Amino acid sequence: MSRAAAPPAIDRDTIRAQAREIAEKTEAAPQDKKSRTFFDAVRASSIPYLPCFLQEDAGELFVRSYEAFYLMARASVPLAVGLTMHQYNLAALATLPVPSVPEFERRRQMLVDTIRRYRSLMAISSFGENIKHKDEAFRNVVAVPQSDGGFVCSGSKGFQSIASEADILLFSGFVGDEMGMFYVNLKNQPAIELGPSLFPGAMALTDTRPVQFNNLRLKSRNVLSISDDLTDHVSFYATAWFEALVTAAYLGGACRALEEVRKFANSVHTDDDEPLAEVDGFLVDSGRLSLELRSQLVMARSFGLCCDRYCRLVRAQGDPEEIDRVANDLMDCGSLIKYSATRAACHIVSGARNLIGTRSMGPHHPIAALSEQVLFGPMHPTISARIERSFGADMLSNEPYTGMFAWALS
Ligand SMILES: Cc1cc2nc3c(=O)[nH]c(=O)nc-3n(C[C@H](O)[C@H](O)[C@H](O)COP(=O)(O)OP(=O)(O)OC[C@H]3O[C@@H](n4cnc5c(N)ncnc54)[C@H](O)[C@@H]3O)c2cc1C
Repeated sequence: MSRAAAPPAIDRDTIRAQAREIAEKTEAAPQDKKSRTFFDAVRASSIPYLPCFLQEDAGELFVRSYEAFYLMARASVPLAVGLTMHQYNLAALATLPVPSVPEFERRRQMLVDTIRRYRSLMAISSFGENIKHKDEAFRNVVAVPQSDGGFVCSGSKGFQSIASEADILLFSGFVGDEMGMFYVNLKNQPAIELGPSLFPGAMALTDTRPVQFNNLRLKSRNVLSISDDLTDHVSFYATAWFEALVTAAYLGGACRALEEVRKFANSVHTDDDEPLAEVDGFLVDSGRLSLELRSQLVMARSFGLCCDRYCRLVRAQGDPEEIDRVANDLMDCGSLIKYSATRAACHIVSGARNLIGTRSMGPHHPIAALSEQVLFGPMHPTISARIERSFGADMLSNEPYTGMFAWALS
C-alpha cells in the first residue's frame, strides 16, 4: 500500500529561508539566466504552493506569501511581480468558500490539487478591460458552448505576465452576455498565440504579453464559471488579494533601495572625515524613509486579518448582511494598501536616489532599474482614480463619517 507523501514544511522560518535562498541565487545569476534561475528555485520551494496547503487559513497564507514575495523582490522586482499573478489567483481560488455553488468548489479543488501535484504555475489573462476610443473594436474572448459541454474560445487579451513560464492559463470570456471563467493547459497549446513583450525595459522579466485565442477547444472540466454573479464574486475577492499582495514586490524593491543607502552611507566620509552614516541630516532623512517603509508593512498585514474573518464567516454561513459588510471592508482594505504602498515605494526609491546621488543611476547600480520598476506599482489595477473616487463618495455620503473598519477589523 503506498503512503501519501508528507506535506512539506511551510512554517514561517522555512518559508523565509526559502525566499532568501531564491533571492540570493537570482542575484548571483547573470542577467540572461536570472529568470531561469528564479523559476527553478521557486518551483523547488513551497512558496508557490502555499495556497494548496493553507486553504483553511487565509490569514496565515497571506502573511507567509507576503513575506516571501517581499524577500524575493529584493533580488528582482519584475520576477516577483510576475509570480504574484500565480500566487494571488491560486490563493483566491483556494481559499474563497462558495458553499452555494458546490460545482464550483469541486472544480476549483481539482485545479488546486493539479497545481500541487504537478508543481505548476498559473498565469492570468486580463480580467479587466482597458479604457478605449469609442469606435475601437471590442477586444475580449468569446466562448461558444459546444454540444459535449465544452467551449470554443476566440479573441484576445491584453496582458499576461509569466507568459512563457506558466503551465496553466486562467482567463475570462463572454458566454453570450455573461462573463465566464476558464482555465487551460498552456504548454504545447497551438491555439494560443503569445504576442511581443509589452514592457521591454527594466520590467522585461515580468514577461508580460498580449495573448490571442484561435478557436481554443475546452473540455467541460476546464470551466469554473459561466455566470456573471459567480465570476464577479470570485474576481472581486481575487482583485483584493492582488492589490494587497502585489505591494510586497514593490516594497521589497523599496527595501533594496534602502539597503543600497545603508551600504553607501557606511562606505563614504565627508570632508571632515565624518562617516556619512553619522551625519545628522543623512540619519534623519534615512529614518523618514525607513519609517515610511515599515508603516506600509504593518498596514499590509491587516489584509490577512480581514481576509481570514471574511472566509470564516462565509464558511460558518454567518449573517448575510455582516458577510456583505466584511466583504466591502476587504475590498477597501486591498485598495488602500495598493494605493498607499505603491506610492510609498516610488517615494522611498526617489528618496534613496537623492541620498546616494548620481552614482545610483549608473547602468549597473540596482537603483537605476528600481527607479523605473517602482513606477509600475500605481498602474496596476485598481486604477488610482477609481479608488480615490470610491473613497471620496464613501466619505461624502449622508452618513456621519468615521473612517473605521467597523466590520472586518472589529
Ligand atoms: C507590470 C504589469 C504586469 C501585468 N500583468 C498582468 C497579468 O499577468 N494579467 C492581467 O490580467 N493583467 C496584467 N496587467 C494589466 C493590469 O491588469 C491592468 O489591466 C492594467 O495595468 C491597466 O492599466 P492601463 O494603464 O492599461 O489602464 P487603462 O484602463 O488603459 O487606463 C489608462 C489610464 O486612463 C485613466 N483612466 C482609466 N479609467 C479611468 C476612470 N474610470 N476614471 C478616471 N481615469 C481613468 C487613468 O489615468 C489610467 O491610468 C499587468 C500590468 C502591469 C503594469
